[in-house]
Amino acid sequence: MAPSAITPPQGVQETSELTAAAVAGKIAQTAPGLLKRVADPLNSGVKTTLRPLDASRLRFTRTTTPMTVPQPGDPIIATASQCTDHMITAVWRSTTGWGDPELRPYGNLSLAPTASVLHYATECFEGMKMYRGFDRKLRLFRPDSNCKRMLVSSTRIALPGFDPKELEKLIIAMIAVDGPKWLPKAGTFLYLRPTMIGSAGALGVATPKEATLFVIATFMPPLGAPQGLKLLASTDGVRAWPGGFGFAKVGANYGPSLMANGEARARGYDQVLWLLNGQITEAGASNFFVMWKSKEGKTQLVTAPLGDKIILDGVTRRSILQLTRERLSHGRTGQDPVEIVERQFTMEDIVQAVNEGRILEAFAAGTAYFVCPVSVIHYKNQDLQIPMSQGDSGPYTALVKSWLVDIMYGREQHEWGVVVEEEQPF
Ligand SMILES: *Cc1c(COP(=O)(O)O)cnc(C)c1O
Repeated sequence: MAPSAITPPQGVQETSELTAAAVAGKIAQTAPGLLKRVADPLNSGVKTTLRPLDASRLRFTRTTTPMTVPQPGDPIIATASQCTDHMITAVWRSTTGWGDPELRPYGNLSLAPTASVLHYATECFEGMKMYRGFDRKLRLFRPDSNCKRMLVSSTRIALPGFDPKELEKLIIAMIAVDGPKWLPKAGTFLYLRPTMIGSAGALGVATPKEATLFVIATFMPPLGAPQGLKLLASTDGVRAWPGGFGFAKVGANYGPSLMANGEARARGYDQVLWLLNGQITEAGASNFFVMWKSKEGKTQLVTAPLGDKIILDGVTRRSILQLTRERLSHGRTGQDPVEIVERQFTMEDIVQAVNEGRILEAFAAGTAYFVCPVSVIHYKNQDLQIPMSQGDSGPYTALVKSWLVDIMYGREQHEWGVVVEEEQPF
């Protein structure tokens, strides 16, 4: 076929839309389950004999040197470095596809100094939690969403695709083994970190010919701020930009944010509120929500939109939007209905709402920090006070948080709370 005859994949407008075309082609090529939705003329000549990621081929190698579980208060917990006994690994090669995944003892990886990830940031990850319910069952919260997002992220940085369902099965297999020993206490969680890296040892800016997927579980200190999060709005650096990769959970988004974050902390704030041309995008590595009375007097819950691909499509964000639409948009007894709005809004909008007494509450939302009330936003030499009328939170923030807690820890039976059958009966 002559190059001029190549038509871009569906959804791609111009032959010069390189990233969109490459991403569409990659998804079609590497995740057959998604093929139907993506036309793939660019890759129609490619033989897809590469082996897909297949959780049914998982090989088990148990640890012979089990570690000790730290007790509450052990300083190791605060370091977020203590992992559980096992991890999942799987290696992909451009010539053969995915090898058999393994569950094996937690331990160091071995990488060539020329490994792609060490030079070109070919890394993406997910952040999830496993929860020990009040009913003693082990749960994940919407793991399908995390696994699908991991595919979006890996594709964005030219790492191989996979069927998200297979990744979900691998995560479940791992926590079925480590859950009973490492997460015995009702109402607690461990953090899960599925990761993929370009592990091929070869310099040269090129798509890595080898990638390694791994899944680890760690302890994490309780995050959040009892007095509410204090945010410092950054008026110089930006986290993400149009056409960039702010929507992907790729490591390259985070290293460059550390200087601003360190500076914010040194000044007594907890997180950076990231802006783009004055528009509010995200708070640190979590999505940002504000609740206010609109100028017309409507109660609104507002958060930045996904359409311009500047912000991360948070699972917590999505869940909050869906639950508030279901449960608040018609008004609770004795309360005004709440309008749920995904739209661009600016720091100037916040300043005006504060000055006019229309600000009701604000919070940051993500898996790590969960739902965290915001008490202060610093912007242009001013500390804007955000009400926390219940002392440690605003009422809607507390309500939304309690809904999610109930689903995560099994107080409310909900399709988002996925129960994991453990190896040893608990
Ligand atoms: C992970 C992350 C979030 C939160 O996403 P969840 O799926 O809710 O955990 C938000 N913003 C950024 C930049 C993130 O990295």
